[in-house]
Amino acid sequence: MSDLPRIPLAGVIGSPIAHSKSPQLHRHWLKTYGIAGHYIPMDVGSEDLEQVLRTLPKAGFVGVNVTIPHKEAVMEIADLITDRAILIGAANTLIFRKDGQIHADNTDGYGFLENLRAGAPHWNPAAGPAAVLGAGGAARAVVASLLDAGAPEIYLSNRTRVRADKLAQDFGSRVQVYDWVQAGNMIDDAALLVNTTSLGMIGKGELRVPLDGLCADTVVTDLVYAPLKTRLLATAEDMGCVTVDGLGMLLHQAVPAFERWFGKRPEVDRATRAAALR
Ligand code: NAP
Repeated sequence: MSDLPRIPLAGVIGSPIAHSKSPQLHRHWLKTYGIAGHYIPMDVGSEDLEQVLRTLPKAGFVGVNVTIPHKEAVMEIADLITDRAILIGAANTLIFRKDGQIHADNTDGYGFLENLRAGAPHWNPAAGPAAVLGAGGAARAVVASLLDAGAPEIYLSNRTRVRADKLAQDFGSRVQVYDWVQAGNMIDDAALLVNTTSLGMIGKGELRVPLDGLCADTVVTDLVYAPLKTRLLATAEDMGCVTVDGLGMLLHQAVPAFERWFGKRPEVDRATRAAALR
């Protein structure tokens, strides 16, 4: 090996991976801050995941993002796992330490909160209950972050009730589960409404939860960002609510990873959004 400093490499591992916006985002920041580094999308199957993760540090990788379907599987491979990733049961960010250990973290909840704070600065997590639709991996990160931020109660509803019950069991008595057919009833006194299901995304079905009970002072946010303005957000906007789209969560969740890998805390600004949408 030469004595020249190695150019740090990072990337995102998933399957499929072609749709990921992370390469545009990280490459934008690398260019903006004049950092010599690369960010590479890698389509890796489950059978090769561990071998690839153990090999990448030897090739100069300082870490990777992990996406569907590997977010849970990497928890079995990582040597160190943050408390929040353990609570959520999934990781989206890996840091390859100099001692060879793989450190796993989950920054989705951080990204979710930062996006809300940027898009709805008046929103106070402690002001009232949060209504969360969905109980998948993203919902677990959202619920963890809301509880941590001081939400007094979380109303939770999911098509598959048992998944919501499991989440409530894991996160404690501040989480109350509603049947999916009654999801419309849980938004009446909610200070925040969050869609964490994939409904509303291009190519998926529409979210059909009745929104008649929505108040104009409820902040409404959607994790879906394709399209940017989902039907949920458009309806909520028509009803006078402040709405926050899901793209910002994707941008903000990437900030801690970029900082750890490349040594610079990046800004999430208009140019960042434009780069991710390119
Ligand atoms: P996941 O673990 O597969 O969960 C999917 C969720 O959607 C579950 O609650 C599922 O309910 C629900 N769902 C799917 N199809 C449905 C249908 N036809 N009717 C009712 N509910 C349905 O996925 P995830 O990782 O949590 O991601 C969920 C969404 O969040 C995706 O659209 C993802 O792109 C988005 N996301 C965005 C960001 C961001 O940065 N903006 C970050 C993470 C995720 P069941 O349990 O009943 O199947």
